[in-house]
Amino acid sequence: MQLQCNFLPQDDGRCGWYETLPPAPPSTPLRGSVQADWVVLGAGLAGLAAARRLAELQPDAAVVLIDAKRVGFGAAGRNSGFMVDLPHDLTSHSYTSNHEADHKIIRLSRDAIDYTREIVQRHAIECDWREQGKLHGAANARGVHALESFAKGLSSLGEPYRLLSAQEMKTVTGSDFYQAGLHAPGCVLVQPAALTRGLGRTLPENVQLFEDSPVLNIEVGKPHTLTTAHGRVQAPRMILANNAYASNFGQLGLKGRLLPIYTYASMTRPLTTEELARLGGEESWGLIPADPLGSTVRRLANGRICVRNSFTYNPDVHASASTLQRVLKTHRKSFERRFPMLPQVEFEYTWGGALCLSRNGGSQFGEIAPGVFSAVCCNGLGLTRGTISGKLIAEYALGMDSDLLSIMLEQPKPCRNPPEPFLGIGVRSSLAWKEWTAGVEL
Ligand SMILES: Cc1cc2nc3c(=O)[nH]c(=O)nc-3n(C[C@H](O)[C@H](O)[C@H](O)COP(=O)(O)OP(=O)(O)OC[C@H]3O[C@@H](n4cnc5c(N)ncnc54)[C@H](O)[C@@H]3O)c2cc1C
Repeated sequence: MQLQCNFLPQDDGRCGWYETLPPAPPSTPLRGSVQADWVVLGAGLAGLAAARRLAELQPDAAVVLIDAKRVGFGAAGRNSGFMVDLPHDLTSHSYTSNHEADHKIIRLSRDAIDYTREIVQRHAIECDWREQGKLHGAANARGVHALESFAKGLSSLGEPYRLLSAQEMKTVTGSDFYQAGLHAPGCVLVQPAALTRGLGRTLPENVQLFEDSPVLNIEVGKPHTLTTAHGRVQAPRMILANNAYASNFGQLGLKGRLLPIYTYASMTRPLTTEELARLGGEESWGLIPADPLGSTVRRLANGRICVRNSFTYNPDVHASASTLQRVLKTHRKSFERRFPMLPQVEFEYTWGGALCLSRNGGSQFGEIAPGVFSAVCCNGLGLTRGTISGKLIAEYALGMDSDLLSIMLEQPKPCRNPPEPFLGIGVRSSLAWKEWTAGVEL
């Protein structure tokens, strides 16, 4: 069976998290022919966790991890840095779904946080790791209502939270934009590109990492052969961790089930001391909108502010320059609504990145062909869900058994999409409608 990688990772704008890191040491691209016991495609959060876990559990096995770009350059380093422990159903107005399912999601997410924390501490990875929780902010009556539903959901799950008045929100954020807020303490905030790069740098010795090596095609067989422009890797067992880019692998049943959706962020230059004083508020905070289609905002300890919003359906897994220009204008408006006291503060970076969603929130986890394992489609929650998928797919592939693995295996699989052009029309109009109803939350 031949798989063509028709859509290769591209640049999609300049990501502030990545660009503000010190330059990375030179990469090692794949050259010539390499044999391994395992090959993992994609060094995002899922791929990094899968390769690490395989190597931990099989210290004598040769594990190859391969990525088209540098580690930290892709979506894993482009996100807003919320390691979310609580339910975060993007299709639900209140982020929650049903109790039993929510408890299980919380267990998976917290295991991902514990696993990552241990690695970060053991290797002293500098990624601005902050166990300070997340704020949810409501900017209108609809948002306040969504927060109330979320609070009710958390109470019945027995999860702690604190409600904040408009004045308390201003004390934290410096902005009087928010009418109400909710603080949930279990979320960890990180600098995502620093975390991802740190995870790549500290892989066990039996993992060989090849960067800047786009895989052009894959022959699924015995062994599997992954070919790049200058080399090939052969291994009897393969883990797919290429997220939205797996959406064109029709022969493995992935085509027609995954939704490559993009979201976008912009980061300001560092604020001056005078601007920081004018803004007020706390030095570092992370805020998720009450309405899932609203704006995520982070204030960073280095004095920058980062705004994320806007979703687009990109079946070619790429954001055009014109889309980036358009979302930059939306980010500007969102920034001005929240921070009218900072009219001169311009954005220094604007970028997009791929989420891999499914219509029913299902993930493609398991063995999808002999010796081919999949950890794709974490529905926009890569920092926790991607990490746990990667860790557990390695355990599954090695025949292990655990409670967490059972939870993962019982999660729904992505349901089938309607055919194009109906899918594109449906997804684009649903996003436009939800964005419109989000109103000022954007
Ligand atoms: C702006 C933005 C904000 C977000 N905010 C958050 C957040 O706060 N919290 C959160 O949990 N999630 C967030 N997300 C989502 C999160 O970034 C993704 O869910 C996560 O990156 C998915 O991890 P992954 O490892 O599954 O896939 P990816 O990170 O997409 O990794 C897949 C890798 O596969 C590689 N690849 C693909 N095709 C090939 C090929 N042919 N050859 C070689 N390599 C290939 C890619 O280069 C990439 O590195 C956000 C995303 C964006 C874009």
